[in-house]
Amino acid sequence: MKKEWKRRCRRDLTVWYVPDELRKIPRMPILGSFTRQGNIAGKVTLRTACLEASQCPKCGSTAFTEEKIKL
Ligand SMILES: [Zn+2]
Repeated sequence: MKKEWKRRCRRDLTVWYVPDELRKIPRMPILGSFTRQGNIAGKVTLRTACLEASQCPKCGSTAFTEEKIKL
């Protein structure tokens, strides 16, 4: 079953939804593994998406409460 997270900004109570795969922000890839440039680019893109999902779309605050939703 697909999971999604409902996040609510603590500051202005804006509600937004985040898919489960964007909930955890992946660590930055280790620089030096130059042979896998494609993977690095993909990971950076995913990380950016995760960081965006962890911010209130309205005020940019990263303070929020979240609850799990099953779709
Ligand atoms: Zn907000």
